[in-house]
Parts: sequence; structure tokens; C-alpha cells
Amino acid sequence: MNVSGNNKVSQKLDQIRKFGKLEIIEGESAKIIFKLVDEKIQSEKEALHRLREHEALYKIGIMLTSSGSEDELLNTIIKWATRLTNTPAGSIALYDRQENSMQIVAVHGFKKDFTSQERWPIRKGGLTEYILSMNTPIVIRDIDKFDLADSSMIKADGIAALIAIPLISERTTIGTLYVDDFIPRNFSKHDESILTLLSTQAAIAIEKMQLFEKVKKLAITDGLTGLFNHRYFVKYLRNEVNRAKRYSHELSVLIIDIDHFKHYNDTNGHLQGNEAIKIVTHVMKDATRAVDVLSRYGGEEFAIILPETSNHQALQTAKRICKSVEEAEVLGEEKQPLKKLTISVGVATYPEDAIRGSALVECADQALYLAKHEGRNRVIAYKYEE
Ligand code: GH3
Ligand code: MG
Ligand code: MG
Repeated sequence: MNVSGNNKVSQKLDQIRKFGKLEIIEGESAKIIFKLVDEKIQSEKEALHRLREHEALYKIGIMLTSSGSEDELLNTIIKWATRLTNTPAGSIALYDRQENSMQIVAVHGFKKDFTSQERWPIRKGGLTEYILSMNTPIVIRDIDKFDLADSSMIKADGIAALIAIPLISERTTIGTLYVDDFIPRNFSKHDESILTLLSTQAAIAIEKMQLFEKVKKLAITDGLTGLFNHRYFVKYLRNEVNRAKRYSHELSVLIIDIDHFKHYNDTNGHLQGNEAIKIVTHVMKDATRAVDVLSRYGGEEFAIILPETSNHQALQTAKRICKSVEEAEVLGEEKQPLKKLTISVGVATYPEDAIRGSALVECADQALYLAKHEGRNRVIAYKYEE
């Protein structure tokens, strides 16, 4: 089919025609047929492209509902959002209703020193407020030509063009999905629609995951103090002992019990007793490291795992807690037998006292018993040295 409109090409074709049974179509009719064929090819390509996208969306749907962790879920969402729109980078920010702020929770395609504030307040008249107030994608083809105030933060990361899609679940906006490019560019209507489809699935999956994480957290924490509960402590201790074994580290356990707490409850009431438990919790938190695991072991009993901590170091920590509780001002404590609200602590250390979690707790418990016996408001190690 000759649609070249070129004399030289026509001559060449004439020569070829002589060699065999060739039919060459030329002129307007050739152009019409060619256009038809081309349109068919294009629409087939388009259909295939759409099919691939639908397949991808379907797969994404499955992947989103089966993601193991929140991180995995968020990364899957960005990966597909950028892939489907052919953009080099993207991020997800979630909305914190209490703080009225946004927090970046996942990024993809940026240099390591991604400068966007991890958390930023939502300012009146700012870009974020604008995005959150819309329930359609916001397309910015060239950030330099966009006049909302807070784009400097975006520019600092080299972002020149973006689509921001609100993540909406049950009519509330829970965050924003961004796909970004480092050069100004056009986005197609199709980019917007595919992202909208993806964002609907993503929002539901994120909300479900957050709910799941919340329930999971509730199942392992104690309601009054927010500390881990007994069941979780036992599990955690087993894991930590295994880790200590693997890396040949030490590990210590403290068992803490409030002294004469029945007396405190009887004289000050159960509710005030709860307040005292919270005060002891604060003191313990202040005196320990972030890696230490604090739990409410029983009613007025606590257990703390101190990873990579020797018996000597554990004793120091325990004494610090003991002294801080004694010094803390607690309502009605003057009526206690010791004139103060106090605690007793038992300390045991892996591997010198025991090599199993349950045995370590027993050792610490025995030491605690001794501390009670010797007058309370004190710390005693299982391997008691005068
Ligand atoms: P000791 O110094 O030997 O530990 O004496 P104690 O009175 O602290 O020990 P005992 O085991 O006899 O009493 C513990 C008290 O702790 C009894 C219980 O009413 C109280 N208790 C347990 N859980 C809670 C709680 O969640 N809130 C309050 N207010 N009291 C609690
Ligand atoms: Mg007790
Ligand atoms: Mg007690």
C-alpha cells in the first residue's frame, strides 16, 4: 500500500511490481484503507492495554487484601500507582484527625534524603487542605505555574509535576496518594481514572489494616496502663531469650510488686488505687530504655525485660525505679505502713540464673519474695550477695 505520495517511491514500487504478482494500492483509496487498518491496530493496542490494567487492578485488589503488614501494603500501593501512570516517584500521606496534620508513611523513587517534612500541619489555604477538600484527583502539570502557597516543600524534593488523589473510605478522607515526576509533564485523563480506581481499593485496604492493627494492639495491651499484658510478656520473653541465646547476650528480668497495696486500696479507694498504678507505670517508663519491654504482669505486679543487660546493670535500673517510686508523690501514701507508696523488685539474669524464660521469671519471683520478707521497698537479685 503506497501512501507515501512520493514519486521516487512510486517508481521503485513499479519496478518491484514487474517481478511478481503484486498488487499495489495507491492514491486516496490507499490512504483510506491505511487509516482504517491503523485505527484497528491502535484500538487493539488500547484494548490490550486496558485489559492489562484491569488485570493489574484485579491482582492489586487481591494483593492489597492479603498484605501481611502495613508497610508492605503501603509499598504495594505506591509501586502500582507509579507503574500504572509511568511516573518515577510517589508517596502516601495519612491524615491524623486529632493533630490535624498529615504524615508521610511511605515513599518510593526519591533520593534517600527526601526532605519533605514527615509530618506537617494542615494550613488554611494550603495545598494539602485543598487536596483534602476535593474528592477528585488534583493534577499539577508544572509546579512552577501553580500558585498555592506551600509548594516550596514539594519543590525542595525536585518534584515538578504530580497527581494527588484523596484516599477516601466511607466518605471520609484518610490520606493522600501522590505520584510525582521530576520534570513538568502532561497526565492523561486515563492516568487520573486508573488512579481513582486504585485509590478506592487502596483506601479500603488501608483502613482495614489500621483497624486490624488497632485490634491487634488492644489484644496485647493492658487497658489501664497501656503496657503489654501478661500473655504478650510471656511470648515476648521467650523470643528475647532465644535472641539472647543466638547472639550470646545477657538479658535481665525485673518483677515488681507494689507494697501493701491492699492497704492502699482499703484506705484510699479502688479508683485512687488505679491512679497509683498509673503513677508507678510512669516512673517505670521514665527509668527504662525504649528497647525495654514493660508489662502489667498481674493486678499490682509488673514485669520488665531488659535486653542485653547484665545483672549489675539490671540492679541499677531496678534501684532507680524503686527510689523514684518512693520519691513520687502519691495521694494518701502517708497512711501506708511505710508512710510512702513503695515497690519491691526481684531481679534475675540470663544465662547466669536460668536459661529459660519461665525459669527466669521464677528466679525473679523468688528474689521478689525475699525483698518482701526483708522489709519491702527494696531490690534483691536472685543471686543474692550481701
Ligand atoms: P505486699 O506488700 O505483700 O505485696 O502486699 P499487698 O497488699 O500489695 O498484696 P496483696 O496481694 O495482698 O494485695 C494486692 C492488692 O492489689 C489486692 C487488690 O485489691 C489490689 N489490686 C489488684 N489489681 C488492682 C487494680 O487493678 N486496681 C486496684 N485499685 N487495685 C488492685
Ligand atoms: Mg501482688
Ligand atoms: Mg503487693
